[in-house]
Amino acid sequence: MFTTLTTQNKNMRNRILFFCLCISLFACQNTTKENSTILVKEIQEEPTKPLETEVWEPKPPIVSVDDTTKIPSDAIVLFDGSNFDEWTSAADSTAVNWILNTDKSMTVKDKMGDIQTKRNFGHVQLHIEWRSSKEIRANGQNRSNSGIFFQNRYEVQILDNNDNDTYVNGQVGSIYKQAIPLAKALSETGSWNSYDIIYHAPKFNSEEKRTVPATITVLHNGVLIQDHVTIKGTTEYVGWPKNSAHGKAPIKLQDHGDNSGVSYRNIWVREL
Ligand code: MG
Repeated sequence: MFTTLTTQNKNMRNRILFFCLCISLFACQNTTKENSTILVKEIQEEPTKPLETEVWEPKPPIVSVDDTTKIPSDAIVLFDGSNFDEWTSAADSTAVNWILNTDKSMTVKDKMGDIQTKRNFGHVQLHIEWRSSKEIRANGQNRSNSGIFFQNRYEVQILDNNDNDTYVNGQVGSIYKQAIPLAKALSETGSWNSYDIIYHAPKFNSEEKRTVPATITVLHNGVLIQDHVTIKGTTEYVGWPKNSAHGKAPIKLQDHGDNSGVSYRNIWVREL
């Protein structure tokens, strides 16, 4: 009796094993077939003609650059030397009280306060030219200190750093107290500099929490000095960066309040 049962069990076991083997072979065959299909599909989908990878829409808008002024056709001219029409006093929105020069520039008038654009901006490309005072009046942070504040909050430093060292996260071209410039590309004291800046505004959610920080790229006299740097928050003289929610806001130019003698000219902006 015992012998008969054992033989039956063995037969049953062999049948199960055979069944499993068949299933495995079938599955294996199917996987191989599937893989072959994917491979063939990929080969079929690989473009073989140049036309297959060409995109024709949407067409970028045409922007021309003026031969003389070098200003792009879609730029907003914020200052061309003729008036302060685009600007206002930052303190009380009254008329600008800085000096309008005959060479199409303006100069910070000491202790007359910061000025800011009447328009509000978010993401921008900004071109601005600036010149430190020819006359050396002070040292460190008090020598031709000014600055460009994006959205009224985030400063790109302007300073005469020629033979005038200071803390490097506050030197010319720094994102004030946040980002040391990659290079010092400063013109001679009293000569014109240019900044070309790409600025992307921060984003905030409905609970006024910052979800995307601002970023900035700066070319100083054509030299890359800030490379898509993340702005941590407001550029504070004392304390850490702050991040209160805000929308579009003016671009501000600083009167550092120490007879900086900084001049500006040829300012234009493109909204991005
Ligand atoms: Mg400054």
